[in-house]
Amino acid sequence: MAERNRILNYLRDLCFPPRCVACCELLDWKAPAEDRASQDALCNRCLREWVSETLETCGICAKRVGDCFCQPFPMSAAKSDGLCKLTYYLPQKKTPVQNRMIYSVKQKNDCKTVHFLAEALAPMLTARLSELGLTDSEVVITHLPRARSAVLFHGVDQAKALALGLSAMLGVSHSTLIVRRRGADRVQKALSVTEREKNAKHAFLPAKNVECRGKTVLLVDDIVTTGAGMAACTRILRKMGAAHVIAVAIASDVKNKDVIEFRSPKA
Ligand SMILES: [Zn+2]
Ligand SMILES: [Zn+2]
Repeated sequence: MAERNRILNYLRDLCFPPRCVACCELLDWKAPAEDRASQDALCNRCLREWVSETLETCGICAKRVGDCFCQPFPMSAAKSDGLCKLTYYLPQKKTPVQNRMIYSVKQKNDCKTVHFLAEALAPMLTARLSELGLTDSEVVITHLPRARSAVLFHGVDQAKALALGLSAMLGVSHSTLIVRRRGADRVQKALSVTEREKNAKHAFLPAKNVECRGKTVLLVDDIVTTGAGMAACTRILRKMGAAHVIAVAIASDVKNKDVIEFRSPKA
């Protein structure tokens, strides 16, 4: 089986030479696939940059970003049990490796990068769940649904793709617990902070015929900026009876690094 996979990977690489998702540099496709770092997602230079970004520390708890659970105030107010993230997103900048990776998973159906990010998040979540003494059957994973128009346009719901990847890696079941309200398709990015909160409050609904009573829910999104969408979904999950809601994201906005807990909901 391993030999068959190796040959299939070799043939795939021959037809579609793998490139680094961040800088598009051609990767060494002649190396056996299982020996390549990070499932072909990044070249060695970008991988080093990625690692150094994940070593950034939080300005509030002074922990490394991957060990910190700080979250924007609206999420604490909605009783979210902390935000697990890999790195900080730097808005308005195109060059940082994490921004380019996030762009790739948002705009293209980039399974390779989703796999890379899920692989990075999985051990953090395993550690968090075992810290809380939870078994797989007590946990369910869900995602913050992307606006329908964006899914149609880009052909992917990146938060769902990441949640499904994590579900397979953690052995935890995935369930779509939240859906978008019809007509609530305004993309958060284009809105001001106050508008985001107002929009998020009315954008989501509990899905039909699913439940999470007594469970710990891992709520997955790509980037957390103001936390308004995560807060709105956390409230819904709590109303549905979730015992805990742990927010999971690829990145938190770098603005959250120092002021995250102290921002008032209306700031
Ligand atoms: Zn690269
Ligand atoms: Zn922190």
